[in-house]
Amino acid sequence: MVGEYRDRMRVLAFLNGTLADPDQPHIRVEDLGLMRGDGIFETVLVADGEPRELRPHLDRLARSASMLDLPEPDDEAWQRVVRTVIDNWPGGGEFALKLVSTRGVAPGGEPTAFALGLDIDEKVFRARDEGVAVVTLDRGIDPGLAERAPWLLLGAKSLSYAVNMAAGREAARRGAADVIFTATDGSVLEGPTSNVIIARDRTLYTPPPAIGILPGTTQAAVFRGAERAGWSTKIEPIRAADLASADGVFLSSSVRKLTRVHTLDGVALPDSSAIHAELAQAYEDVYA
Ligand code: PLP
Repeated sequence: MVGEYRDRMRVLAFLNGTLADPDQPHIRVEDLGLMRGDGIFETVLVADGEPRELRPHLDRLARSASMLDLPEPDDEAWQRVVRTVIDNWPGGGEFALKLVSTRGVAPGGEPTAFALGLDIDEKVFRARDEGVAVVTLDRGIDPGLAERAPWLLLGAKSLSYAVNMAAGREAARRGAADVIFTATDGSVLEGPTSNVIIARDRTLYTPPPAIGILPGTTQAAVFRGAERAGWSTKIEPIRAADLASADGVFLSSSVRKLTRVHTLDGVALPDSSAIHAELAQAYEDVYA
């Protein structure tokens, strides 16, 4: 795993603007982000030197901080450190920029906060081009739980992603590359690191964040682009049973952009490459 990261281009800067060597140790072993996954993060796509959807990402970071009772993030400091990493990024094209902030070494202590630029895995580019096979997996929650039990932090982008990562491994065991989580009532939630968008009769649908999922910055950008290109958009519950009959099923996230689902639970979906090409272009046009 270390080797995997060492082979990748990275730029690290702490929130105070100090650049640091990503190959050196920086985090104390008692850091609650490490000990308990107690912290928050964002992953921003940087394309041609510009961070995409930075405002919504920073707003969501602040929302996650509030849900975890963490101090309000210093918005200007985050904007500055984003610029520092971008200005020091040696390559061109696209990279992923992680913004991470933990509870620090003790409750009430200073957060450990840094921005880490990382180049994008070849697999992600391939998935954007070729699409992915996905399995539906039960998340074991019902759509009212987020509202009933805010302490479960559903819809916060916390560092506790062990379940999300485990779902990815279960997908691999089932011969798929990704996951769509479903609720106990059979409705669609989100992917472990993505939102779900379906297309039907030139309307895009995605489930509402209130059911306990992350409000996606990419999903919002795709909807903006699609509306400009003449599509209608709706935020409303989707049934898992609706996926197979849609004109297209897609996963959206900052780094994967809009990725087409070509196979669901081992069954090939109708070919949505033309719709995908159109929507992917509409999304890029948002930044043209
Ligand atoms: N849902 C979850 C659980 C995520 O982790 C992510 C991003 O990683 C998303 C949705 C998509 O969010 P965004 O489009 O803002 O990257």
